[in-house]
Amino acid sequence: MEKKSGIILALDVKDHDKALEIVKKLKNLIDAVKIGYPTVLENSMNIVDEISKTMPVICDFKVADIPNTNSLIAESVKKHGAEGLISHAFTGSDSLDAVIKSFYPGKVFAVVEMTHPGAVEFMQEVSLKLAKMAIEKGVSGFIVPGTRPERIKIYRSMSKEILLLAPGIGVQGGEAKRAIENGADYIIIGRSIYEAKDPVQKTKEIIESIS
Ligand code: C5P
Repeated sequence: MEKKSGIILALDVKDHDKALEIVKKLKNLIDAVKIGYPTVLENSMNIVDEISKTMPVICDFKVADIPNTNSLIAESVKKHGAEGLISHAFTGSDSLDAVIKSFYPGKVFAVVEMTHPGAVEFMQEVSLKLAKMAIEKGVSGFIVPGTRPERIKIYRSMSKEILLLAPGIGVQGGEAKRAIENGADYIIIGRSIYEAKDPVQKTKEIIESIS
């Protein structure tokens, strides 16, 4: 996943043709496409195969099971050409380790703290512990909250090398520039782009705002 614009498109678009059309339009402006349950449940994993042929895909399945099940999931995702896989870390080091080993040489990104308000109820309390464990286990990066740039700064201070991917930009209230200034390597953006009147123009504006 070569870094050019620093933008990852969250493609939560259920309609197959619409999803592919957006990717085609934005291909030269974005570094990767993140695909999650909404798109895969409607289209099967074939859509991951299709998009992976044209550009890097990160599967956002927030894997959160026992080690054996996690391995089975990671092996299947790998078969469909995804370069990245998002896993939860709260299930513990053995579960995360299973994802990393089974998805290798693909990149695993651990969710250390979510973007939505509810994330502060339980998750934030243990998030730095999760991040420390995830670094020790050898993840490629973290999913960090673009809605809380001050938290991104803390995760950045834990490691210079770890990739920080920040969703929560735009509709959820986060600002692209602030996320980048506080240490995010990539910003993940969905609705602000794919629901825009002109997704290409919108993406160009976001790129302009962070360069
Ligand atoms: O449309 P929007 O830009 O809010 O999309 C954000 C994407 O990032 C969604 O696919 C969402 O599931 C995902 N995400 C998030 N917060 C996290 C982890 C993933 O918003 N902590």
